[in-house]
Amino acid sequence: MGIRLLLILLTLWALFIIVRAYIRRFPKKDVKKNNKIAANMVQCKVCGTYLPEAEALQHQGTFFCSREHLMQRKDEK
Ligand SMILES: [Zn+2]
Repeated sequence: MGIRLLLILLTLWALFIIVRAYIRRFPKKDVKKNNKIAANMVQCKVCGTYLPEAEALQHQGTFFCSREHLMQRKDEK
């Protein structure tokens, strides 16, 4: 009986180790990466889409996602 209990405990412990290792294999790296990118994200004045500053078109301190929307800015004034 005692050995059986020990085996069950060992199995549970092994499962715990496996599950913990499994969780650690997928850390929240993606979230950190996204936050890093988000720091340099700018919003298109026309459609409100967020995009990396490097990919955005800038005109007079305002960002646009595409040339099309850059042209549409005239409608706003
Ligand atoms: Zn846009």
